[in-house]
Amino acid sequence: MQRTLFIAALLGAMGTTQAQEEPLNLGARPPLVVGITVDQMRADYLYRFWNDFGEGGFKRIVEGGFYCADHHFGYAPTYTGPGHASIYTGTTPAYHGIIGNDWYDRASGGSVYCASDTSVRAVGAASPDEPAGFMSPHRLQVTTLGDELKLATGGQAKVIGMSMKDRGAILPAGHSADGAFWFHGKDEGAFISSTYYYDELPDWAARFNRKSPVNDYMKDGWKRLLNEDAYDESQPDNNPYESPYRGTTRATFPYDFRDLAETNRGYDLLKGSPAGNALLVDFALAAIDGEGLGADAITDLLAISFSSTDYVGHQFGVHAQETQDVYLRLDRELARLFTALDEAVGAGNWTCWLSADHAGATVPSLGQSVGMPVDYWKPGNMTDAAEAACAAAYGEGPWILQYSNDQFFLDRERIAAAGLDVAEVAARVRRVAMQDPDVYRAVTRWDLAQIASTEDPVLSHLQWGLHPTSSGEVVVVPKPGWINYGRSGTTHGSPYAYDTHVPCIFYGWGVKPGATYERTHIRDIAPTVSALIHSPLPNAAAGHVIDDLFD
Ligand code: ZN
Ligand code: ZN
Ligand code: ZN
Repeated sequence: MQRTLFIAALLGAMGTTQAQEEPLNLGARPPLVVGITVDQMRADYLYRFWNDFGEGGFKRIVEGGFYCADHHFGYAPTYTGPGHASIYTGTTPAYHGIIGNDWYDRASGGSVYCASDTSVRAVGAASPDEPAGFMSPHRLQVTTLGDELKLATGGQAKVIGMSMKDRGAILPAGHSADGAFWFHGKDEGAFISSTYYYDELPDWAARFNRKSPVNDYMKDGWKRLLNEDAYDESQPDNNPYESPYRGTTRATFPYDFRDLAETNRGYDLLKGSPAGNALLVDFALAAIDGEGLGADAITDLLAISFSSTDYVGHQFGVHAQETQDVYLRLDRELARLFTALDEAVGAGNWTCWLSADHAGATVPSLGQSVGMPVDYWKPGNMTDAAEAACAAAYGEGPWILQYSNDQFFLDRERIAAAGLDVAEVAARVRRVAMQDPDVYRAVTRWDLAQIASTEDPVLSHLQWGLHPTSSGEVVVVPKPGWINYGRSGTTHGSPYAYDTHVPCIFYGWGVKPGATYERTHIRDIAPTVSALIHSPLPNAAAGHVIDDLFD
């Protein structure tokens, strides 16, 4: 098996070289492109887990594909919604408008969720009034790879997005997708969609839900894939830096999901375990077959986002055996997916890329235990102090509407009504924020606009993440490694390397094996895929083609 794959990879490489000596054929396209996002995957997981990977998953695409070693987000906030939007639009929150998972929306005067849409109803859930189905891509302000591919093929290209998370399915699929599907753990544990896409689920999806393997996965629970001594790249299983399941006191293998189900939201347990990734591959195979993805010469796009890695990372942290195990098992699931793609579309006929929507921070309490200068911070005192400073200067407020995604949203109407200059109020808030000992830096949006394109990674990341109208007036950056989170597990969202450095691998049709160690950005993925498959750029694409891929 290994040898066959190796020879196939070699032949693929030779084929590409020969093709380059022939005249360029700008009409050549693969029948299927698969975009893979691994939620919260840090770039170093490839190194740390490499020796425990099998041959057909991560190693297959790294060894047989093109690997970008220094791939970064290039903006903050580094959250799931913005991450998925950026990969598929080739640009950043400054343009696509997905400035967080949730944010303060000035038009409606409240918080909004990146995929929420009360004008649509659920499809495939127990009731059309299930709010988990009130979702669409309408807050995404630009086009995606799939939108442009569809338009360029007279609507013939099929574009499907799927994930355990709604936003991981919807934002990659774009505005004109055939469908997006996400997992709803309540009730039966099913993949659902919304009336934005369908009146009812396609037959293949409804059939999948009827025969769903969720109960088998619940019965299997979660134990280590390998013997415990294989996990020596991680902390001991029982450690104080991970969060036990609700109703339990120790985060240790094995986990019996039937015992845990009642106190841990039933089928939602699958989302936060390796079974969620397996279930998504099951569903992807059903979609490839049911939709005939890659079955004709018109290029189709399948966007798959593995969310379970993010839930596991949040609960157990970067250095837990559980986190190592979810990646070792994902590796085997990727191998199953790739083998199925070979069978359905033919080895060498499909193209894929794999990246992540953000990475994640070392658990600060673990970092402290080995002497790292990291800690926890809570913005509450800072926001209270900022409001008090404004009240003292301008009279009773509130002057601050919300602090979210490490941004202050000021009450522009109140400020205007008081005859004040919003930039001056923002500067006052900024000065208060800078007095918080846990804050590395605070800047106003006017500061950022005046700083020309900068080499300072933190400032340039804030610029790329700041939307001209939607974002807040003051942006705050805590110290490196400091997170606003509980004492166990971890999170992400910062402009620092531990949140921005993610894997990026291209593989398959058209991809010459190789690697680059130069800095590449998440916004480069869509332009590179566009160039590779000869399809139009998303309309606000701001990244560069990773040209080493084409040398
Ligand atoms: Zn995420
Ligand atoms: Zn553990
Ligand atoms: Zn997360």
